[in-house]
Amino acid sequence: MMNAGFEFDNSYARELRGFYVPSKAAEVPQPRLLRLNCGLAVELGLDPGVLISSHGAAIFAGNETPEGASPLAQVYAGHQFGGFVPRLGDGRALLLGEVVDRSGRRRDIQLKGSGRTSFSRGGDGKATIGPVLREYLISEAMHALGIPTTRALAGVTTGERIFRGEELPGAVLTRVAASHIRVGTFQFFAARGEVEKVKQLADYSIARHYPELRDSESPYLGFLSAVRDAQAQLVARWMHAGFVHGVMNTDNMTISGETIDYGPCAFIDGYDPNAVFSSIDTLGRYAYDQQPLIARWNLGRLAETLLPLIDADMDRAIQLAGDAVNRFVDHYVAYWLGGMRAKLGLSDSEDDDLELANGFLAALEGQNADYTLAFRRLSEAVRGDDAPLRAVLDDASAYDLWADRWRARLSRERVSAEARADAMNQANPIYIPRNHKVEEALTAAVESRTLEPFENLLEVLENPFDEKEGLEAYASPAPASFGHYRTFCGT
Ligand code: AMP
Ligand code: MG
Repeated sequence: MMNAGFEFDNSYARELRGFYVPSKAAEVPQPRLLRLNCGLAVELGLDPGVLISSHGAAIFAGNETPEGASPLAQVYAGHQFGGFVPRLGDGRALLLGEVVDRSGRRRDIQLKGSGRTSFSRGGDGKATIGPVLREYLISEAMHALGIPTTRALAGVTTGERIFRGEELPGAVLTRVAASHIRVGTFQFFAARGEVEKVKQLADYSIARHYPELRDSESPYLGFLSAVRDAQAQLVARWMHAGFVHGVMNTDNMTISGETIDYGPCAFIDGYDPNAVFSSIDTLGRYAYDQQPLIARWNLGRLAETLLPLIDADMDRAIQLAGDAVNRFVDHYVAYWLGGMRAKLGLSDSEDDDLELANGFLAALEGQNADYTLAFRRLSEAVRGDDAPLRAVLDDASAYDLWADRWRARLSRERVSAEARADAMNQANPIYIPRNHKVEEALTAAVESRTLEPFENLLEVLENPFDEKEGLEAYASPAPASFGHYRTFCGT
């Protein structure tokens, strides 16, 4: 038999009995590979030559279980839109196991859309081609943007027709993650009063993600702080890129600090702090500018689960955990400002930089200004031409006032315009997954059965910072006819 090269070492299955249910993927009629991520396959020590064959398609569809895998569905709980659901779990996903990649990092290999598990409730456990390609595109784009994220190893169609209001081609995504441990995993056991299990999970998580804490004086408080920092950094990066996750429930917040669960997410075109795309987020709980606040709220939910481990004296535990959670704000602002300095071309730090960064955003507000292009064109302003930037604004007067302060600030740094502009172009992408381009690619795949627009878009998004001639269509905002973009869960 051909060997795809998976060398599984399944620590979750081995060390966390009672945290999952062993499961099997549903057999599907006709696995066919849509896309294999060859670079990632090599990174994982796999053989792309084998994976590209029908054998690979059978593995990624769940029809064949590679040797050494121990397929399981993980249990978790979670706050969904603020309401606690005590039992969620992998209802349409299956963890095949873990591999240690070429740089020594342990990675989960998970099938998403592989059929029912004990956590499926009323769902069919399946996925369809549109959402699978969408997650593939956006997660790989996020990775190329330098934002921590789960990855996409492969997408396959299954030959099934899946009912989602209409019949659609069934598909499975193979997702790779640092782990799939979520805030909600802790909540599941904490809500049941199973403190020993919470401790076991925390010890496992520390060993896997934050091993430097193992021998520290207060590892659990350290763990909470480490997750806080990872999340503060992550959300700061989302904000820099104009990314709206759309469903920041506690079951969609990893303790590794990777972005997970690309359901109703989208990137903003025009700068709008209140941007909401998800059709079910009617109150704007997960709006663009709410994301740091929600991350902090979610962290509070993690903190609650850890209290008995942090200190036997509950008052003291609450004090310590509360302080750790409250420091989220400072850490978030520091990461956000650090990234904004890079986007504005600042190398040094000055006290007024926060105001300067907010000033640029204020100048964009209400201007119909494309967020990504406005930042990108700052580098041309540095090179002496701010006409392209002014052109993305309805009225440039607020920008002009701000630009005087910005230029004065830049003049205090001894950096050449060229070097500064080049550095800025590594912080301000030219290509992001534009909503209309994503939709165009998915529509072509679903309705016209061609993957060409998907392949082309994916290729562009792999190099988001290097502007290339001929790719102008990928850099432009949606035409007005595209209208307000709405996204959906329930993939
Ligand atoms: P999500 O909105 O993707 O974070 O999923 C929330 C919960 O619903 C998780 O427990 C999922 O496993 C479950 N779920 C979502 N879609 C399906 C489906 N098609 N079949 C079964 N369970 C699902
Ligand atoms: Mg989820």
